[in-house]
Amino acid sequence: MMQLSESQALFKAAQQVIPGGVNSPVRAFGSVGGTPPFIARAQGAYVEDVDGNRYIDYVGSWGPMLFGHADPDVVQAIQEAASRSPSFGAPTELEVRVAELICELVPSIEMVRLVNSGTEATMSAVRLARAYTGRSKIIKFEGHYHGHADFFLIAAGSGALTFGQPNSPGVTPGTAQDTLLARFNDLAHVEQLIAANAGEIAAIILEPVAGNMGCVPPEPGFLEGLRALCDRHGIVLIFDEVMTGFRVARGGAQERYGVRPDLTTLGKVIGGGLPVGAYGGRREIMEYVAPRGPVYQAGTLSGNPLAMAAGYAMLRKIADTPDLYERLETFGAALEAGVRENLKGLGLDLYFTRVGAMATLFFTSERVVDYETARRCDTRRFARYFHAMLEEGIYLPPSQFEAFFFSIAHGERELEQTLSAQRRALARAFAD
Ligand code: PMP
Repeated sequence: MMQLSESQALFKAAQQVIPGGVNSPVRAFGSVGGTPPFIARAQGAYVEDVDGNRYIDYVGSWGPMLFGHADPDVVQAIQEAASRSPSFGAPTELEVRVAELICELVPSIEMVRLVNSGTEATMSAVRLARAYTGRSKIIKFEGHYHGHADFFLIAAGSGALTFGQPNSPGVTPGTAQDTLLARFNDLAHVEQLIAANAGEIAAIILEPVAGNMGCVPPEPGFLEGLRALCDRHGIVLIFDEVMTGFRVARGGAQERYGVRPDLTTLGKVIGGGLPVGAYGGRREIMEYVAPRGPVYQAGTLSGNPLAMAAGYAMLRKIADTPDLYERLETFGAALEAGVRENLKGLGLDLYFTRVGAMATLFFTSERVVDYETARRCDTRRFARYFHAMLEEGIYLPPSQFEAFFFSIAHGERELEQTLSAQRRALARAFAD
């Protein structure tokens, strides 16, 4: 048995002073049970907990660690920035350089505003879309997660879905009524909603590849169909690329699928592990943002020098590593082939999805295309699998409804260890 005594002591102490012992719900292992390892350090593809257990990491800080943990360029950039003082609350050169790089790398972004989290980015993008169109309602998709702003906590994915409370108390009925829910990958449903709310819809927001109900790719034509509907009805199309940005392709899902949204939200990768988010898009819309325009949005620590230093180092590496996405794809394809072989060898029929460097093994034999089909997974068996993998030294996201991530620090050795651990873990999960 794995030794977790230090983590157990810390988790106990944490629960006295932090709700649930964590600062973000999924970390508490609520749906899989047990004690979350408290992490002490990480390097490359590995994380190490306070009891000295080492794991091959498939969480990657939930997305940012495209080059693996403690990347020397990113760490050095942060150290140098820290020595110049962590914050000024005044403009800095690095903010310009980061914004320039984002505009260069993401096809639809002409102007961008930097914020401190994905939540801030999506919340601000919706405010902007509402101001730009003069309309109130938005369409979101069941099982998609866009952070914890009130009007998104309606049939939300990620932790909200994991804990079975996709609708949070504290969200007023007045707020909830402006959020219309659509089924992902169901264009006809979106069309019906638009028809029933003619002239009232400001924005359609989605994860172009869903990641917060597990990894669910868009069906062919779905994104194009949304683009056409938005054009026809004067609706702002927002791609929430907080997860997919710089992960499913250099230019995100919009590059991979060739569909341009009006606004894009980003997070995770662009901070290199520090808290950063961004929203950007067509110049004409972005010019509505204060102080250029009337839509207020601000942040004392927005564009923070440490975050910008990390983000710039990260984005520079992304721009300057020509084979980055080929290398991620090579690992991803080998992992996928190995997972399929394992399933076949064990006679298991589970649904596996992967888009670039994000993937999910769904504990169902059905094709998962939306929230309804995702929810039919056997989460009890997933929990057994999760713990068996953890014991084997493989750190997966502690929920069926999260995508797992890998980096270019994951190589041949990690691949083999992961696949052989998985054979044993799956056998244990299905032992009865
Ligand atoms: N949008 C998406 C697609 C996300 O995956 C997340 C976080 N996982 C968010 C928004 C919210 O980002 P943050 O947690 O940084 O507020």
